[in-house]
Amino acid sequence: MYNNELLFMTPFLKEVLWGGTRLQEKYGYKSDSESIGEAWVVSANRNGESRVRDGHFKGMTLSELWSKQPELFGPDRSDSFPLLVKLIYARDNLSIQVHPDDDYAYVHENGGSGKTECWYIADCEEGADIIIGHNAKNKEELREMVTNGEWDKLLRVIPIHKGDFFYIPSGTVHAIRKGTLLLETQQNCDLTYRLYDYDRLQNGKPRELHIDKAIDVINYPSDEKDTANVSASPSHDLSTGEATAHEELLRCSYFSVDKYLVKDSLDLTQSHSFLIVDVLEGSGTVDGIPVGSGDNFIAPYNYGELHFEGDMTIITSHI
Ligand code: ZN
Repeated sequence: MYNNELLFMTPFLKEVLWGGTRLQEKYGYKSDSESIGEAWVVSANRNGESRVRDGHFKGMTLSELWSKQPELFGPDRSDSFPLLVKLIYARDNLSIQVHPDDDYAYVHENGGSGKTECWYIADCEEGADIIIGHNAKNKEELREMVTNGEWDKLLRVIPIHKGDFFYIPSGTVHAIRKGTLLLETQQNCDLTYRLYDYDRLQNGKPRELHIDKAIDVINYPSDEKDTANVSASPSHDLSTGEATAHEELLRCSYFSVDKYLVKDSLDLTQSHSFLIVDVLEGSGTVDGIPVGSGDNFIAPYNYGELHFEGDMTIITSHI
């Protein structure tokens, strides 16, 4: 049994049109490419897997661990590791897109799962914004606005700041826009329907759009509560470390996400099937192991107590 060993992960780095070098510079990830847009820091997705960085399981992919070492992940099993955590840096705007829910994906995408996601803004340029939601009242109006290219009228633009948090349930139109660095926690799924790509060309050709499927899965009307910034106010319910703050960012049926500020020290009990920990800022130690921004690990089932020391911002997630 190796449930007392933290599983540090090496991310899969993804090259994209709208990427850059920010992830490498800020988090020390190694790549020769100058257009990295995504670091899949905890991923068992077949399109890009993270691997165990060191220790007993060094070199194994997360999906290998999931299938061969089930004792590390507790009794709450699904076919594949259920979550996908990414750091995303957008040097340029991402396409306007939407993801299907589980039911739609099951019927139309060979039984795959849908995708609900959420974003924690790790950093952004002054004046940066994102798109979440739309202004069409019904399907007909939406189709009409899409056909006429009335994007300014259709899409809801939301100003963002470092530390903001957004919940993007499946069926929500959304786009990350330029100058944004964020941590995305999502269902383990890579299904995206592209609605609009600013008429950009890739190798002389526009990228494929999926307008009919997108219109099929978009929620009407765009639900206010779906687009709300669901960030809770900080609660100081942890007794350790004087200025330690805990913020419950999200509870939804697929995952829970929390933010902790480690000031001096923090004790955290791992009482879930597994706990994903992402260090976004600062440095220190966890159970004596040095950690810094850009480090990501999984605390296995029955790991017990995690003891942090230092000065750090961490985001945790679990099912
Ligand atoms: Zn998305």
